[in-house]
Amino acid sequence: MADPRDQHEATAARIDPSSWDELPVGLFSFDRSGRIISYNEAFIVLLGLSVHDYPSFERCTSVQLNLSEAAERVLSGETVRLAGWHHRSNEQARFLRTTMSPSFQNDRVTGGVGVLEDATEQRRYEERMEQLSSLDPLTELYNRKKVSDLLMAVAERPDASTDAAVIMLDIDYFKLVNDTFGHPTGDLVLRSIAQLLRRNIRKTDAIGRWGGEEFLIVAPHSSLADGVRLADKLRQTVNDEPFGPVPHVTCSFGVSSFAGGKSVEQVLQDADEALYAAKHHGRNQVSSKQ
Ligand code: GH3
Ligand code: MG
Ligand code: MG
Repeated sequence: MADPRDQHEATAARIDPSSWDELPVGLFSFDRSGRIISYNEAFIVLLGLSVHDYPSFERCTSVQLNLSEAAERVLSGETVRLAGWHHRSNEQARFLRTTMSPSFQNDRVTGGVGVLEDATEQRRYEERMEQLSSLDPLTELYNRKKVSDLLMAVAERPDASTDAAVIMLDIDYFKLVNDTFGHPTGDLVLRSIAQLLRRNIRKTDAIGRWGGEEFLIVAPHSSLADGVRLADKLRQTVNDEPFGPVPHVTCSFGVSSFAGGKSVEQVLQDADEALYAAKHHGRNQVSSKQ
């Protein structure tokens, strides 16, 4: 008696290939020389090709989604997973994901098969999440984790030893602001100072909330003297600005730099010591430690 599974498999093998066009996922296969030999409609739509175009990997390769190179690796026997932004003329870029595997005959690679998916929505969501996870919700500046990552990145650059200043600043007598005007007003002052600082640094400088009422600025391509100049400009700016019901707020600043190939820990310790000195010498001033 015939095994009903055989019959099922026979039916499955006879699916009309044109019905793959209904799938919103691109399907494709290529031969041993990397020439695309079959594909469904979603494949050309996702890559922004017209039905009149002859699809080739060279034609649809971009810097971030190098399908040509992926196909070469598949032909050497690898399964390749790849994702990246694909830019198409006159259309918005899409984030595409592909998985490509070799096909074999008698243990020899005869070509490859692949799937291509549109992962734009998912990628946008991930990017938004990444962005949110690096921000401090109250001040909308970078959070401590993100600033630490940036410091590490600066320290790892080969020219970091000569060219990055770090400024640590702390609001003076902030406890008094809270006690006098209430915590919500304290929050408002924190936010306003954060925005004021951000508006007064370069685009290439980074600023984050280091702790409660403490901020950290990383200024690449700046010497210690550049850092001190920037810190004093910021000190004056905060000093001159009224913050709603709080007429006068000041900050103290400690500046250090990566000069001499200092580690992140050392730079932070030096900035912290300089800040402590600025507080000790009367607040509303800038101290530095080389
Ligand atoms: P100093 O000049 O020595 O820095 O004095 P200070 O009063 O600023 O320092 P202290 O460390 O004694 O107090 C810091 C205050 O900052 C206490 C804390 O409640 C307040 N603070 C920290 N984070 C927040 C916040 O998110 N919102 C508000 N409103 N206050 C905060
Ligand atoms: Mg303080
Ligand atoms: Mg403090």
